[in-house]
Amino acid sequence: MRAFRVHRPGPAAEGPLERVEVATPAPAPDELLVRVLACGVCRTDLHVAEGDLPVHRRDVVPGHEVVGRVVGVGERVRGFVEGERVGVAWLRRTCGECRFCRRGAENLCPRSLYTGWDADGGYADHTTVPADYAHRLPEGYTDTELAPLLCAGIIGHHALRRAELPAGGRLGVYGFGGSAHLATQVALAQGATVHVMTRSPAARELALRLGVASAQDAADRPPEPLDAAILFAPVGDLVPRALEALDRGGTLAVAGIHLTEVPPLDYQRHLFQERTLRSVTSNTRTDARAFLRLAGEHHLEVSTVPYPLEHAGDALADLAADRITGAAVLVP
Ligand SMILES: [Zn+2]
Ligand SMILES: [Zn+2]
Repeated sequence: MRAFRVHRPGPAAEGPLERVEVATPAPAPDELLVRVLACGVCRTDLHVAEGDLPVHRRDVVPGHEVVGRVVGVGERVRGFVEGERVGVAWLRRTCGECRFCRRGAENLCPRSLYTGWDADGGYADHTTVPADYAHRLPEGYTDTELAPLLCAGIIGHHALRRAELPAGGRLGVYGFGGSAHLATQVALAQGATVHVMTRSPAARELALRLGVASAQDAADRPPEPLDAAILFAPVGDLVPRALEALDRGGTLAVAGIHLTEVPPLDYQRHLFQERTLRSVTSNTRTDARAFLRLAGEHHLEVSTVPYPLEHAGDALADLAADRITGAAVLVP
């Protein structure tokens, strides 16, 4: 089968992905073998390919927003049959025994493993997934539309919850890519007023079309104080700006797995009056299922830019250069 792997991490513009022909993987006894129908391109893939994240597996195949068809079932798997459409997401395995797993916070499990970082993912014709971590997918979406829901959607929804937006509150969204445009629709559906700050004019246009109250440049101040904000852009410089835009008691949730350096904070300007700064780390399977259920009940508009699998490198380079509005999706 075809696969694109990260042989030597480096700038996306220099082509860190290498196309190889490899044997189709065999599923472990508790895994499914999946034929990839669509695989979203997430910013985390870019961090893996460019070396912002440490190498966990040499020559890893990225891709953790996989919509696929089950074509092989490990001998110990129950509950899945060949031919079903399933989703493969970022969270791949957790230990099930540590204090975090036991209290329902498996996203913090120190022994957790991730698709497309610790194990080969979906930039390929086939991939595998532990059946316990595979997801059933909602109806009403194409394969291409479903792919971004599997990380961008799940993480955006988790970040929105971490931001603790009060009912009918004012939400600021910094950066407006795949994850942000989905989380924004969830917030709007829940009655929030949303203000978007992004440097991309095309993304500002998409935000306004989706119904946000205002859209301005990334460093601009929103037109009113915010009860909560989510930082989707991986830009540490925006942390003090977003904190300053919060009203008393507001919360800023940083959604990315990687952030450039955060400048020094001033206690009075950025944190006093009980403003809260917190991170968002992966998600639990419960989070994922709650979001996918919500996406089934409330149709989300998924803005996608399809690329043939052969052009995986172009998709990463376009994401790095901010040339994508919405979410890039690879189609084998
Ligand atoms: Zn654990
Ligand atoms: Zn992701």
